[in-house]
Amino acid sequence: MTHRTIHLFRKGLRLHDNPTLLAALESSSALYPVYVLEMEEANHLGALRWRFILQSLEDLDRRLRALGSRLYVLRGSTLAVLRELVTRWAVTQISYDTEVEPHYTRMDLEIRTLAQERGIKMHTCVSHTLYDVRRIIKANGGSPPLTYKKFLHVLSVLGEPEKPVREITAEDFLRCPTPPDPDHERQFGIPSLEDLGLQVPSEVLWPGGETHALKRLQQHLQSEVHTQGLTFLIISTTFMTYRLHQGWVANFSKPRTVPNSLLPSTTGLSPYISLGCLSVRTFYHRLSSIYAQSRNHSLPPVSLQGQVLWREFFYTVASTTPNFIRMQGNPICLQIDWKHDPEALEKWRTAQTGFPWIDAIMTQLREEGWIHHLARHAVACFLTRGDLWISWEEGMKVFEEQLLDADYSVNAGNWMWLSASAFFHKYTRIFCPVRFGRRTDPDGQYLRKYLPVLKNFPSQYIYEPWKAPEDVQLSAGCVIGKDYPHPMVCHLEVSQKNLALMRQIHAEQQNTAQLTRDVSDDPMEAGLKRELQEEEELIEGAESNDTFKRLNNEVDHQSRPCR
Ligand code: FAD
Ligand code: MG
Repeated sequence: MTHRTIHLFRKGLRLHDNPTLLAALESSSALYPVYVLEMEEANHLGALRWRFILQSLEDLDRRLRALGSRLYVLRGSTLAVLRELVTRWAVTQISYDTEVEPHYTRMDLEIRTLAQERGIKMHTCVSHTLYDVRRIIKANGGSPPLTYKKFLHVLSVLGEPEKPVREITAEDFLRCPTPPDPDHERQFGIPSLEDLGLQVPSEVLWPGGETHALKRLQQHLQSEVHTQGLTFLIISTTFMTYRLHQGWVANFSKPRTVPNSLLPSTTGLSPYISLGCLSVRTFYHRLSSIYAQSRNHSLPPVSLQGQVLWREFFYTVASTTPNFIRMQGNPICLQIDWKHDPEALEKWRTAQTGFPWIDAIMTQLREEGWIHHLARHAVACFLTRGDLWISWEEGMKVFEEQLLDADYSVNAGNWMWLSASAFFHKYTRIFCPVRFGRRTDPDGQYLRKYLPVLKNFPSQYIYEPWKAPEDVQLSAGCVIGKDYPHPMVCHLEVSQKNLALMRQIHAEQQNTAQLTRDVSDDPMEAGLKRELQEEEELIEGAESNDTFKRLNNEVDHQSRPCR
């Protein structure tokens, strides 16, 4: 039988490696690509993220148009929209990608019920993750592996993730044309930001959509061209560039990337991956082919493939952990009596902590929607176990609103990590809000860009402007306490206090802490040790492994007064 199908785009906003859409096209005589803007569900998303989503939809519509189809965009609840459309278009099949988030699994149940009522066939595939995470859980005996090492071990048993499927072509749509509707724009057009009542003052640094995702991927993995036998056609300088890129990819070591470079020092693919503008399997297998050509390449956890596997890890754990994005009722998360301090939270959120390194990062987040992984470390540690002792859930919500790559599983997983509530146990390492950034950007170029109020401070003081003598502040045109705030806490005092608390909590809740702790004699250890060591060195550079000892050092105290 050939179907009249609605393909519902939720994430997966792409035409490459889209197995669900491909199968839907193959089994249909008419196919309507639909996207539902669930404005109420998503009212916590910020304007930057909305702009990214709308641009991604526009790109998808353009690409569909090139194949003779259109995107049908509607507003409302997905169920209500589908209920109406299946009747209007006499639909016999609904297809969409499987997702692990509770919002989508609830939606799945509703769509299933609707389909049963109307005798409609359902077709779903997994394509937002490398594996069907249920397979990983099954291979691990019915529960998710709770440490990355164990996770990698399970994957080594499962073998490589499936290869991406072929790209969708105009021919696929020829078989299932949808009648052009002269009224399409009015009924199904993509709203503008203004239509949604939103404004974004900043320029577009991260244009949404599959086209940009593939371009960005290509820029990073240009060596792929080299592997396709085009080497001979490439003039030598370009060839050198390819080799350099290939080296960059093969030798990528996350801890060695710089958090405060003015352009992203990692791939910057996360916004595209989070909406599915880029297939994570395409990315993974492109990396594999580069690795296959290099004699030795970096390994998980620090390699590029290792980064994608972190994502997979958090998706796997999130898929079955109750209350994954909350502390209460979350079995893997330490129960901590975090401080309720809306005023302090607001200072952190609005870049008014008085620590330039923290405030610059929070400004970049608010203005641009993307910050480096280690910058995320810095502000997350500061908010939670490092300085303010405010719940990771609060920080996660701010990230959810402001990040272009905001992702249910990855965001919560990393916030638990950074707050040492789960996964991470070396809680004695607290990042110093002064030294962390200074290590890779001693002149504070990054601070001067995002906090122009400080731009005239001499490098010596830019990370601790409160220490600058009055005349220096005056000639920099920025008086601390008037033009820029004093540091909101004394880092040395609060971090010591918090560390003692955290130590006590980890001791008292050993059983919970143990659940997500890596076992030291894990057979994976041997291969990982060298890379892990590198990670530790970096963190040490940012803030010593012996933080506690150093914090207690009198000289240190004297040299770093809070005001
Ligand atoms: P690359 O280093 O180039 O990595 C490639 C891809 O691997 C990324 O695009 C991403 O999909 C994945 N990846 C990288 N690091 C991680 C990680 N630690 N955990 C899981 N997946 C990873 N990432 C998000 O995509 N969405 C979030 O909401 C998010 N919230 C975070 C919150 C905190 C507190 C922290 C510390 C990290 C968070 N991250 C999140 C993870 C990470 O910081 C970003 O994925 C990464 O910085 C994106 O930049 P990139 O694409 O250049 O990464
Ligand atoms: Mg899809």
